[in-house]
Amino acid sequence: MGVLLLMTDPTDTRDTGPRVGTPLWAFLAGSIVIGFTALVVAMLRLDQGGLAALARTPLFWVLAVLVVLGELRPVMVSSATAVGGTYPSTMFTFAVLLHFGLPVAVLMQAVAVAMNGIVTRKAWHRVMFNIAQSTLALTAAAVVLGLFGIVPSPAVPWTPTGGDLLAIALAGVAYFATRAALVSGAVALHERRSITRVLKASVGPQSLVYTALLGLAPLVVVVMNHSPTLIPLFVAPLAAVYFTATLSMRRDHQAMHDELTALPNRKMLIVSTEEALAEARHDERVGLFLIDLDRFKEVNDTMGHPVGDRLLQMVAHRLTHSVRPGDVVARLGGDEFAVLLPSIRDAHAAREVAARLRAALTEPVRLEGMTFDLDGSVGIALYPDHAPDFELLLQRADVAMYLAKEGRTGVELYQPDKDRNSPERLNLLGDLRRAVDNGELKLHYQPKVGLATGAVHGVEALLRWRHPVHGQLPPSEFIPLAEQSYLMRQLTEYVIDAALEQAARWWHTGLRVQVSVNVSARDLLDSALPEQLEMGLAKFRLPPSAIQLEVTERILMGDQAYTHETIKALAALGVPLALDDFGTGYSSLIRLQRLAVSEVKIDASFVSRIAESDDDARIVRSIVELVRSLGLRSVAEGVESDDVAIRLTKMGCDMGQGWLFNEPMPAAEATVWLREHAEATPEIEYGYRSEVTQTA
Ligand code: C2E
Ligand code: MG
Ligand code: MG
Repeated sequence: MGVLLLMTDPTDTRDTGPRVGTPLWAFLAGSIVIGFTALVVAMLRLDQGGLAALARTPLFWVLAVLVVLGELRPVMVSSATAVGGTYPSTMFTFAVLLHFGLPVAVLMQAVAVAMNGIVTRKAWHRVMFNIAQSTLALTAAAVVLGLFGIVPSPAVPWTPTGGDLLAIALAGVAYFATRAALVSGAVALHERRSITRVLKASVGPQSLVYTALLGLAPLVVVVMNHSPTLIPLFVAPLAAVYFTATLSMRRDHQAMHDELTALPNRKMLIVSTEEALAEARHDERVGLFLIDLDRFKEVNDTMGHPVGDRLLQMVAHRLTHSVRPGDVVARLGGDEFAVLLPSIRDAHAAREVAARLRAALTEPVRLEGMTFDLDGSVGIALYPDHAPDFELLLQRADVAMYLAKEGRTGVELYQPDKDRNSPERLNLLGDLRRAVDNGELKLHYQPKVGLATGAVHGVEALLRWRHPVHGQLPPSEFIPLAEQSYLMRQLTEYVIDAALEQAARWWHTGLRVQVSVNVSARDLLDSALPEQLEMGLAKFRLPPSAIQLEVTERILMGDQAYTHETIKALAALGVPLALDDFGTGYSSLIRLQRLAVSEVKIDASFVSRIAESDDDARIVRSIVELVRSLGLRSVAEGVESDDVAIRLTKMGCDMGQGWLFNEPMPAAEATVWLREHAEATPEIEYGYRSEVTQTA
């Protein structure tokens, strides 16, 4: 709590300060007046002769330089709050306080903060506040020391001994408590959050750093007294504290923020929303907005990835500058953004904010000498009116957003009765949401068999839902629905986890079959996917080749720029990719080559007809040849008959998957099947094979 970051964007130097008369303004003004009074009182008590004598010693200047340097960069320990960092200078100013007394410490600190303010061009009200709060903290510590009869001065410096630990500890606590209260108070007023929440979020990590800095101060004093030239050695532990804290905070930050726009990501949005829901007062609402850019894909496709990225960054900037401090703008992936309003009066006010956000988006954008007209659709869901928790709020905001998009109204509030397909869709979606938790979802596994060898190369995991009322539902009944909502990510998370767990059971018992998992477009927009896979593979001690992701052709051809990032990350992980349903999209040969896929799955709609239709046979043959010439594997889907298998084998297709070999089976059944087939001599497996060998 050494510094106050009073803006949503800390790099913004156009900070003009709070409006006169607001509670925040009163708080800052009050703190500054009291702090500067304390500063003046301390200066009046300054022993000028003593200071002049002190200023002639090298020690004084060494300390002064360390304080100034220590004031340049804060130790950041938390990315989740606006409660900035702690300055390493604390260690030296506290040492000066102990040794030479309050006036010298306060003077050095004030000069250092002012110099820092000038160098980093901080707004003057922030510099004043920081001088005031550090002066007050030092004064509080000096008062505690005074109660123990410790009043050092330049003429009579004090050097602590073991018996003074209690006094020093209490002085340290007073120092920390003063800073924590002042800075958290300002942040709470600024973000309109309760001060206890702000304190709760920041005190833990901050107190650790303060303990390290303040704890070293008495040792600095002892060394000052003993041999001052050793003082610079303290820079080493200081640097250690600094870098460890900075590193952990950077890691924290990365996990919680989107790389491209630096906005909070979904993870952080969840944390913030849950905080807001817990904090919400009875007379207020919590608003969650979902924003989807309307024409972004066009721009991205025609202008390319870099321009698309810049556009997203501009959008992020505009959105953040259209909301109040304390509101959270997050990027969920692709061109989807979310805004959290932790406290909003009513639906009307929420609509106003949404309209403002949308207006900020529609303002034409100039990039590369061209003007773009963007537009966005905003869906609003309110707590507690529409949903009791984050997941459902997001889902309802999603429904509202769809309405806004469909009706071209731009902004829609969630309204169950206005939603045409609402009851059914929402019911099923709601059921699906619970299904994940209730274990109604299971994976079945279908083998992929080498056509020429009969060997099993892997299995595809296919989702099955046993609905309590409707019974067994095929994926086609619920995946497309889930794909239009935020549930898809949760669903895929479950599928990947279950598939990895099953793969681990097989791999660690000697069955090294690759498990393929289907992922949707929305999953690839989510940068959390590679991370989940990486962690899952490590958790289950599996190589990346134990799993494969199946992506439909249409997805890869579509929003290339944004799936690109995820695909690159997956390739870096070593997780193979298969192109599913090949033939149903419109991939060109060149594009196919550029994609990082290792397997192409020919869609069942062509495969099943190769026995009857020469056209389909020709299509499949040319796909097989093309895939082979690119050095990839071909897999025929929907192989139902011997006849089809024979034809495919003759065409040189590598693998087949279909009812001929087996239907998708529950895990236990699949295990038995895999064991049998791992041992059996492939020669005798399938009737079609003897025919192929005879005719060959
Ligand atoms: P897909 O990835 O192309 O999966 C192959 C589909 O073909 C499966 O349908 C499978 O049961 C079916 N099939 C297998 N053998 C034969 C056969 O001999 N003839 C015919 N006509 N069909 C056969 P299923 O299980 O109903 O899944 C349908 C689609 O749903 C899948 O198509 C996939 O796109 C999607 N899906 C399934 N599970 C998941 C999942 O966990 N996540 C995602 N994102 N999508 C999934
Ligand atoms: Mg598939
Ligand atoms: Mg398929």
